Amino acid sequence: MTTSEYRSNDRAHVWHPFTPMREYCREETPVIAAAEGFELIDTDGRRYLDGTSSLWCNVHGHRVPEIDTAIREQLDRVSHSTLLGLANVPSVELARELIRIAPPGLTRVFFSDNGSTAVEAALKIAYQFHQQRPDRPGTRDLFVRLSQAYHGDTIGSVSVGGIGLFHATYDRLLFRTVEVPAPVAFRTPAGFTAESYVAHCFAEVERVVREQHDRIAAFIIEPLVQGAAGILVHPPGYLRHVREVTAALDIPLIADEVATGFGRTGTLLACEQENVVPDLLCLSKGITGGYLPLAATLTTDRIYEAFLGEREDARTFFHGHTYTGNPLACAAALASLKLFERNRVLDNIHRNAELLRTRLAEWSDWPHVGDVRQKGIMVGVELVQDKATKAAYPPAARIGHRVTLASRKRGVITRPLGDVIVLMPAPAMPADFVHRLCDVVGEAIREVVDGRD
Ligand SMILES: *Cc1c(COP(=O)(O)O)cnc(C)c1O
Repeated sequence: MTTSEYRSNDRAHVWHPFTPMREYCREETPVIAAAEGFELIDTDGRRYLDGTSSLWCNVHGHRVPEIDTAIREQLDRVSHSTLLGLANVPSVELARELIRIAPPGLTRVFFSDNGSTAVEAALKIAYQFHQQRPDRPGTRDLFVRLSQAYHGDTIGSVSVGGIGLFHATYDRLLFRTVEVPAPVAFRTPAGFTAESYVAHCFAEVERVVREQHDRIAAFIIEPLVQGAAGILVHPPGYLRHVREVTAALDIPLIADEVATGFGRTGTLLACEQENVVPDLLCLSKGITGGYLPLAATLTTDRIYEAFLGEREDARTFFHGHTYTGNPLACAAALASLKLFERNRVLDNIHRNAELLRTRLAEWSDWPHVGDVRQKGIMVGVELVQDKATKAAYPPAARIGHRVTLASRKRGVITRPLGDVIVLMPAPAMPADFVHRLCDVVGEAIREVVDGRD
């Protein structure tokens, strides 16, 4: 097929996720045919820097010889075999590695295939745990979540979501949750200063958890950074505070590290930065280096043991997905974890985080840049119509999307969250590419907000 044939067939048959399809079909979108290192290559041979890490999952670049080889070698053994009542070699090895890198006390791994299912499993495990726990068994049906939370797109994970644009449509299908306010002071409600608002958010955790504690099945949080909400960075100590408050009342904490895991925040896992051990830990996106779909929900012996019993006791976790623990994906994950250590990827992340901090320092002064947020190598630049009032652009202005188009024209792929421009370099990306990402996206922002595109 020629590029235009690919495009017309794409428009005719492929329904793209999170994509307004009418607008999409009006645009000439690249069709990716290949990749090399940190660049994607389209059917016309044009190269684009992968500035989104292929939606936050690519770690070491594309076509990494060690991961390619690991998958090829696994192909010569077995591509898929079920974990339902059966074990397979790469999933056993990977479970051991995940336990080794996870906070101490997390000893059990439940595999699935994407971030939403990792969260879905965590929610159901927490819910069932309370019914079967040996001490104080009972039904707890309430999950605490943050405002603007994002935990995936299946109905359970949407239930614990808080992004109106994505989630309000399904409201009547969702189970009830209690919301605590995200501790982010970019737009503070009337009557608060930035400082007093953050203090209020800390206090709300305590109030909500105390008031409802005997109904709460679990508290779910994206540790340190709320990604899909627009790279909202929490103040230091908030995660620690949530852990202390929940631990004091024996409420399980679910840490959704689907986005933050595998180096993005500066440590292998975000929880490490506040010495937090959650009761359930969700991993996906970067777990295979961004190669294949895989997820893991880690938990403690205490929770796992509440599911033990004889067959007739029916304490089993009756949940599982066909491709759970897929050997090819586990082989990719094992190879990716090896590269993390061998290539000292965390050191690269620290260098790039500093580089980004330096490069972005001046952006805050630009017209229409309302806020520049960064944690590690996750960056969100919020564009606003009015810098003084922080008033947003009207959605019809498609400001974020226009920055994406202007970047793409210059050979860089990005994907915004509304009017938040996201820079998501891969953890192993060399510095010169990160500079190019900043150069191009900076130019694209100037072009769009100055009305020159
Ligand atoms: C992306 C994401 C998910 C959902 O993962 P999918 O693989 O897209 O289902 C869940 N939680 C967080 C924090 C995410 O960023």
